[in-house]
Amino acid sequence: MANGEKNVWQMTQERLDKTMDMLGLKPGIQKYLREPKRIIEVTIRVQMDNGEIDVFKGYRVQHNADRGPTKGGLRFSENVTLDDVKALSALMTLKTAVVNVPFGGAKGGVRVNPKKLSLRELETLSRQFILELSPNIGVDTDIPAPDVGTNPQIMAWMTDAYSIQQGHFEPGILTGKPIELGGSQGRDEATSAGVVFTVLSALKELNIRKNNLDVVIQGYGNAGYNCARILNDLGFNIIAVSDSGGAIYNKNGLDPQKVLEHKNKTCSVINYSESENIAPEKLLELECDILIPAALENQIDENNASRIKAQIISEAANAPVTPEADEILDENNILVIPDMLANAGGVTVSYFEWVQCCQSYYWTYNEVKSKLKQVMERSFKEVYKLHKDKNVNMRTAASLLALGRVADVVSLKTTRSFCY
Ligand code: GLU
Repeated sequence: MANGEKNVWQMTQERLDKTMDMLGLKPGIQKYLREPKRIIEVTIRVQMDNGEIDVFKGYRVQHNADRGPTKGGLRFSENVTLDDVKALSALMTLKTAVVNVPFGGAKGGVRVNPKKLSLRELETLSRQFILELSPNIGVDTDIPAPDVGTNPQIMAWMTDAYSIQQGHFEPGILTGKPIELGGSQGRDEATSAGVVFTVLSALKELNIRKNNLDVVIQGYGNAGYNCARILNDLGFNIIAVSDSGGAIYNKNGLDPQKVLEHKNKTCSVINYSESENIAPEKLLELECDILIPAALENQIDENNASRIKAQIISEAANAPVTPEADEILDENNILVIPDMLANAGGVTVSYFEWVQCCQSYYWTYNEVKSKLKQVMERSFKEVYKLHKDKNVNMRTAASLLALGRVADVVSLKTTRSFCY
């Protein structure tokens, strides 16, 4: 981090402070909500394939549990820091509150590059990590899920390790599991389906016709690919996508399935035959209608924000736009659908998964999809209305809605009443 540059946790606290000031919350409640409830740091021991012991740092931050058990993903990435996890845990508190599911917010991660581990090492790390967290998580207390660098297979190993330790199968401890282990229909595409519902809602509000709209997607993992696939099926034109290897462009549209097959074969989207390679930094600046950042944090900042030409940005990734960039995008009248709303489809279907596990009663794909649609459309409307009524951008509106909901609960719990 360059000198004077703020880290993501400081930026998050500043955003929380600003919103809480706007809501006029009591100083005590502000002080309480700007700090995580519990921070867990673990040292994970793994015996590597060469017989040597290696040690990894893991974190779980439970930001707020006032509206229900804490909820949020576990990421495996070389860039994981405690401050990132703190910031992302607060974002989860906002996310669950925006869509009004009865959860609080948490996040966790291990500082590791999962691509550098063998399958056996990855399995051991996953099992050890969840066992290290086990005293502080539970079906009714804290329920992890996949995030960057983790997937349903990792959730399966973790569920198994936790269940063995508890002495019984406990599918409600994690979400994002394979269907066979109590996962939900539609969970794998839920984040993207949610992003698409928000895009469709935005187009409706802005009176933009759906015909032939050009879409650019940064990132081609689970979220990026599924956004491309669903939007392509709806008739949108996916003109450019990227991954960590580079970016590709075809003004006539890419076939998301063929791009995925190419990526699976070659490990990157670049050099896909029906496209030209372009510089990754140019991707975000392409002429298009809808831009979907589906990669990592801080991708749109004060350096490139003024060159963004999209009409709508829907944040499939968490925190891809910096506060400085937000201001520039506002000035340029670009509607940013913030992460806490745009990508909340993932945690919403996680909630559905948890409900199904707790009841041992599983729903069909169509049931899940239609319930998700209801939640996303209702949440978008609520945020959009606040955005208009209060004349604030969508991120501020979503934060006001979410923090207002959390603060209401805290107020009810802490109000002293003498009138029995
Ligand atoms: N990792 C996802 C997120 O950031 C999903 C969290 C969950 O399903 O608990 O929203």
